[in-house]
Amino acid sequence: MTRPDLDAAQATFEELLERLKIDIESDEQLSNTPARVTKLWSELFGGLHEPVPTISRFPNDGQGEPVILRALPFYSMCAHHFLPFFGTFDIAYIPGDVIGGVGSFARVVRYFGQRPQVQERLVQQVADLIEEALSPAGLYVRSTARHLCMEMRGERVAAELVCTAARGVLRDGERRQEVLSLLG
Ligand code: ZN
Repeated sequence: MTRPDLDAAQATFEELLERLKIDIESDEQLSNTPARVTKLWSELFGGLHEPVPTISRFPNDGQGEPVILRALPFYSMCAHHFLPFFGTFDIAYIPGDVIGGVGSFARVVRYFGQRPQVQERLVQQVADLIEEALSPAGLYVRSTARHLCMEMRGERVAAELVCTAARGVLRDGERRQEVLSLLG
């Protein structure tokens, strides 16, 4: 996997500011900004260069009811504008033969959030990895987020975008209704 070239990126960022007529010489608050932003972006997009996280698996000792992780905070960067979108994830699943380690879900959300992203794809990627690792009987993933590219520019409205992904018995029917009411 190729690593980011931070020195070249910083030089290019300095040039970008120059061409935008943002004079880093005349405002000393800006003097280290190209280096700082280059480092920041390489961190915020670091998931692109990391290995796919492993989801811890434990034997399921008879849990047939939904397991729900609610209101897990997340942060990501919109692929279209490089502005943050952020909010929460709710993850519900009905286990098959294995249950997942709780911390693993947070790792998976962070991994797919650390890249230029769109919320619709993010929920699908999180659901796909959990499904692949745990083969649950059913899975329901919902994320609710504010998008600064909608609030600071464009329409300039504050609203939350809700995106969901569902698999197995939580695609529809009674169990899905039960999970939705548990999620509130
Ligand atoms: Zn955007």
